[in-house]
Amino acid sequence: MATGTGQTGRAAQRSEKTPAQRLLDMLGPVDTFRDLDEVGDFGLPGRIDMEHLLEPVAMAGPISRLGPLEKVHAFWFSGMSCDGCSVAVTGAETPSLETLLLGTHPGLPRVVLHHPVVNFESGPHYLAAAERAVRGELDAPYVIILEGSATDETVPHEFGGWWAGNGEEPWGPDGEERSVTCEEWIARLAPGAAASIAIGTCATWGGIPSAQGNPTGAMSLMDFLGRDYRSALGVPVVNVPGCAPIGDNFMETVASLLYFLQGYGPLPEFDELGRPAWLFNETVHRHCVRGAYYEEGDFAHEFGEPNCLVEVGCWGPVVNCNITSRGAERHVGGCMNAGGPCIGCTMPGFPDKFTPFYTVAPGSKASTSASRLLGSVIKPLRMYTNEHLNREPRWDLHKEVPSGWAREKAEPGRVKELGHRFYDRIRRSDDTPRTYEGVPRGKRVEWTEQEDPAAERSLGGGEDGSRRIMEER
Ligand code: SF4
Ligand code: SF4
Repeated sequence: MATGTGQTGRAAQRSEKTPAQRLLDMLGPVDTFRDLDEVGDFGLPGRIDMEHLLEPVAMAGPISRLGPLEKVHAFWFSGMSCDGCSVAVTGAETPSLETLLLGTHPGLPRVVLHHPVVNFESGPHYLAAAERAVRGELDAPYVIILEGSATDETVPHEFGGWWAGNGEEPWGPDGEERSVTCEEWIARLAPGAAASIAIGTCATWGGIPSAQGNPTGAMSLMDFLGRDYRSALGVPVVNVPGCAPIGDNFMETVASLLYFLQGYGPLPEFDELGRPAWLFNETVHRHCVRGAYYEEGDFAHEFGEPNCLVEVGCWGPVVNCNITSRGAERHVGGCMNAGGPCIGCTMPGFPDKFTPFYTVAPGSKASTSASRLLGSVIKPLRMYTNEHLNREPRWDLHKEVPSGWAREKAEPGRVKELGHRFYDRIRRSDDTPRTYEGVPRGKRVEWTEQEDPAAERSLGGGEDGSRRIMEER
């Protein structure tokens, strides 16, 4: 019976309206739009908008016309955001934003970007393309991109306010101007979009604005549009998390989607949460530059130390992120590369499941104790072998390193030397010779005494100027 109740409850939950539908129900349809001729040049510096300014340059070459699409509009909305995602994307280079805006990336349509910071139009001229998209009169397909969390605008609407506005439209009673929120634009545009993309952790999972205690109802794009959302081409919400995200992760995902829209490739592989699988299927720990320290049980206790940062609060072993291999920007920087522990900023549980930051994650204690124990044996053995490999065989023979840098370094004692010989013998035990005319060849079988012509010259020679070398028979 309890199961039945649970199932009924879940079914009821699924049939509930999404936050986007509830917002549109509250606001109602819109059918009044601006006449740009009446608006004149207000908000249009140089009397030209960005698309038309770039068009002659962007359309100059044929390479952006290889597929069916010559251009795609990209509407960028900022919800509860710090603009860090915009900064990350403007620094990306695989491909760069500039190549997409100019249509110079082979095979990709040029992108007509509508971004509240990057574009230079303002007011009605900035919003004109979004208006045309709402009316279904845009001259090309479009994608929508959300940076920052979506908010529950039904709450402030009741009091005449809003959380995240994005211009004004004559959509009030009797055609009055009223503020239009970022969420309203998304709710109206998402069904007709070729793809809806969330960039950054606020837009993908709610992020910092949705932390416990927030009054805005901040949520992810996925939460806002609901599980049944599909774009006009049948694609669920695409998520590229990170706070701030790696700009190249986003641009690479966009480029892959554009290749799909151009008919050049399949839909890229996304995981069950809509993340590009090839970018987020590994934990950051697996590619961390400090991973070997972890393995040897060698942990930092102060920031600035080179060792593994798990004991100053790194969550890397359980976090999906590729920043250690890709770097933050242009393959440079990135948390642990630059000395910062991972606080899990790409994860749906961020930030509430990772706080307090910079304290040891309780779950790490078992594995760090084990690696400490293992490291206490493995690390000295590795250093022992490392010391041996840092010597030429000739130096072993003469018991001297002819380097002005190594005068203070003690020669290995008899016990170490015996150990190294024993080790070398084990190493060579599997070295199988090939036999040619009954004579084994290619196997280094033993050390023999032989004249060392260089000994007199380079080392001053021993009493007999000889050395032992490995002889190849
Ligand atoms: S710093 Fe973090 S990610 Fe890197 S090895 Fe240590 S625990 Fe793993
Ligand atoms: S390493 Fe951790 S904190 Fe750094 S970007 Fe990746 S998930 Fe965020």
